[in-house]
Amino acid sequence: MISGEAGEECGVIGVLAPGRPAVPMLLDGLFTLQHRGQESAGLAVWDGGDDIATRLGMGLVGDAIGGQVDGLGGSLGIGHVRYSTSGASSLANAQPIRGRRRGRTPFAIAHNGNLTWVPGPGGTDTRRLATLLAGVHRPLGAAMADTLPLVSGAYSLVAMADGTLYAARDSYGFRPLSMGVLEGGGWVVASETAALDALGAEFVRDVEPGEIVEFDVRGTRSYRFGGGRSALCVFEHVYFARPDSVIDKRPVYEVRRDCGAALAREAPVEADLVMPVPDTARIAALGYAEESGIRYAEGLVRNIYVSRTFIQPSQAQRQGGVRLKLRPVEHVVAGRSVVVVDDSIVRATSARQVVALLRSAGATRVHVRVASPAVRWPCFFGVDIRVGDDLAARHRTAEEMGRLVGADSLAYLSADALVSAARGSMDLCTACFTGDYPTADSRREATW
Ligand code: SF4
Repeated sequence: MISGEAGEECGVIGVLAPGRPAVPMLLDGLFTLQHRGQESAGLAVWDGGDDIATRLGMGLVGDAIGGQVDGLGGSLGIGHVRYSTSGASSLANAQPIRGRRRGRTPFAIAHNGNLTWVPGPGGTDTRRLATLLAGVHRPLGAAMADTLPLVSGAYSLVAMADGTLYAARDSYGFRPLSMGVLEGGGWVVASETAALDALGAEFVRDVEPGEIVEFDVRGTRSYRFGGGRSALCVFEHVYFARPDSVIDKRPVYEVRRDCGAALAREAPVEADLVMPVPDTARIAALGYAEESGIRYAEGLVRNIYVSRTFIQPSQAQRQGGVRLKLRPVEHVVAGRSVVVVDDSIVRATSARQVVALLRSAGATRVHVRVASPAVRWPCFFGVDIRVGDDLAARHRTAEEMGRLVGADSLAYLSADALVSAARGSMDLCTACFTGDYPTADSRREATW
């Protein structure tokens, strides 16, 4: 995505490390998941006593909670980084959320994704779920098994109560969630396998769609509350996930390289250089260069101290962010025709600016190649891709998009090529590219 124009809504981690403190592991995991949300961060830990301690803050993990964890003990904990797609950007909406059920010890819960329908009183989707869970007078796992079938949406969820760690994934499995075993014993679950790696954990398996997994000192137990057609979000491979993660057995790095190579076959063009829009398109550009035989170069430099612009909710912030974030390398670009590869285009605001930057640096021709199909449909599954002006390609051909962003040419990867690169064992959701929605609700909503 050229400077990232759609947001996703969070990363989660849960740790059960008997005999060792969970907080350092939670922090390491949250740092690794930071790309999934930068608005707020939080963690909750249980030290065996009557209460669960939470630490929440706004901003990056280090700023938000790094200074609040001294003396925080306990070997069981969950953590969260947030991008807001539901509820305002404020500390009140940071997670994990703590709750207490009558006659029982407290619990805490955090999720990645959106709960599109939760019966009960208002509040953010997570708070409403916590309220429902608090009303069930059974162990938390049983309460989740009773409650989650009532909840629609696309989510991966971690929770804790009574010395037990819980992980659950919606029945379509839109959002990834992986579990691993810690060196020295214990368990970790996280939105991406890169967080497992950061903790030195060994990947065991993904939590299945419609599955609740319980972890305690005795081992693991699994319950099903749904399942059937799966619909893993293909945008995880395109943009959201880290390239060192593996999603549904497919290494994200390989998927992106394969997409770039397929793009070179489907949309070849003569040029002096292939370059990425850093950072998420870098591997697709490498694949394009390898397949086409055109030299790879870095013609745009990203300022890593400016956060990913897609994380910032307002368009004004996005526009300001692009100019600060990317600068052209004039001596690479000047006098050359370039293929600039991006992973996706949603709003086209930054695509226009990237083309203008390359032309201002002296590029003779700028060909835009997008390593995913045109985004023409809104997402109803927690990703910030909406109708209206948000979707630049909604009523535009590739040629018209090329003119819109000021490129000499613009071409997309086909949906077939993307699916063939990304498919593991699960079916994929490709709805924002194809309009093929996996759920009946979303099909109805999409008839706007
Ligand atoms: S509509 Fe697009 S962004 Fe949303 S879940 Fe499906 S593939 Fe992912």
